Amino acid sequence: MSETILKPILTQQQKTQLDFALQAVMLHLYNQFPFWALLIERCTIVASLDVPRAGITKNNTIVINPEWFLGINFYQRLFVMAHEVGHAAFKFFDRLQNRDLRLFNEAQDYLINYLLRNDFESSKYSKKPFWIPDSLYSPYVGDLTSEDIYEMLWQLRNPGASSRGSRLAKEHPDLWNDLKQQTQQFSDVLKEDPKTTETIRPNRAQTPKNNKEWDEAVNRAYVSAKQQGRMPAALERFLEQFCEPRVHWTKQFTSSLTTAATRDDFIDYSWLSPNRRQSVLGNIVIPGPVGGKKKAVFAVDTSGSMYAACQIDNGSPEPRTYMDQAISEVEYIRKDHNLRVYLLNCDADVHRAEWIEPYEDLPSLIGGGGTSFVPIFEHIEKENLNPDFVVVLTDGYGDYPPDPPPYDVIWVIFGEYQPPFGEVIRVDT
Ligand SMILES: [Zn+2]
Repeated sequence: MSETILKPILTQQQKTQLDFALQAVMLHLYNQFPFWALLIERCTIVASLDVPRAGITKNNTIVINPEWFLGINFYQRLFVMAHEVGHAAFKFFDRLQNRDLRLFNEAQDYLINYLLRNDFESSKYSKKPFWIPDSLYSPYVGDLTSEDIYEMLWQLRNPGASSRGSRLAKEHPDLWNDLKQQTQQFSDVLKEDPKTTETIRPNRAQTPKNNKEWDEAVNRAYVSAKQQGRMPAALERFLEQFCEPRVHWTKQFTSSLTTAATRDDFIDYSWLSPNRRQSVLGNIVIPGPVGGKKKAVFAVDTSGSMYAACQIDNGSPEPRTYMDQAISEVEYIRKDHNLRVYLLNCDADVHRAEWIEPYEDLPSLIGGGGTSFVPIFEHIEKENLNPDFVVVLTDGYGDYPPDPPPYDVIWVIFGEYQPPFGEVIRVDT
């Protein structure tokens, strides 16, 4: 029998110390940063000598090296626990796709550390030594996502490999400079579970088993933190992507797409690994317009009436508007289908119109005027977009063109309105 199995990872003294340390950490996180505390409760915390410091696994197990953890100060422990669960909150493994794990780890570390440092610096710990030296950090992360930072890091390591990375580097020279200065010594996102572990703190709340359950957990933590008035604004912005879409809408939409694909054979869809997602519907990938592939245009009605509060209950204490819901739907569909979309927003005029890659953030929408759908179709014609289908998210009240355009139009209608042509998906409001 090998010695590693017989020898316990923790001494009795370490066990007691870690137990106390984690109780204190949780107490303080609950008090100051309940969002992170609530998510940590859904994770099992284990000790292991297989990691140099701390990490998190695919199954949301937080792993800490006992000697290292007991060697850092209390405020650093707060920071590191929030950091690790941050990877889970930002769905590291779900978003990794075919990216380089280590580099995506670095990218997300920059993002998490940026958000957390903001939180800590605007809390009662602002003057405390919470920062762990040599952690990846730049104050210039701003609104960028892990995917953006990844593109920059990729371009940095493989010059010329990412045109998006090179563009971002030009747009964010200060961040680019910071990225050049630093590399990470080790990864804290663990692809494989450590071989030998000892549980220090089992999960107190149910551990989410899939993406949907995890999203729900994040949403609940968010709502609860918000009710306590302890939801940092920067973090909140990042979490908007977790807004739950209306499920039946999505089903209908997907079936419309699938029907369209079968009927006209115009959507060249392919199936990815069935393990990638829980839902089979999520596996449909509609390729972008490159090389004669198919094109989707999404038009969001940004007229004044779309800013009315809707009755959709997603557990949020804030009233949601039709606009919020429309954005959640577009966000969900394009992320879930890895869809490159041409997004335009329109009230009486088209305001913004541009191609958005699946990994890019949606731009903020402008509007507030009256409604006419005519400019949408005029714009599509003028820009020579030749889309395969157009999705319009609207309450339906507005001027319609006299004749249907020569491509499929799917109206996502918030309310009862019946448009004169096209397919209708109705969202209960
Ligand atoms: Zn990390």
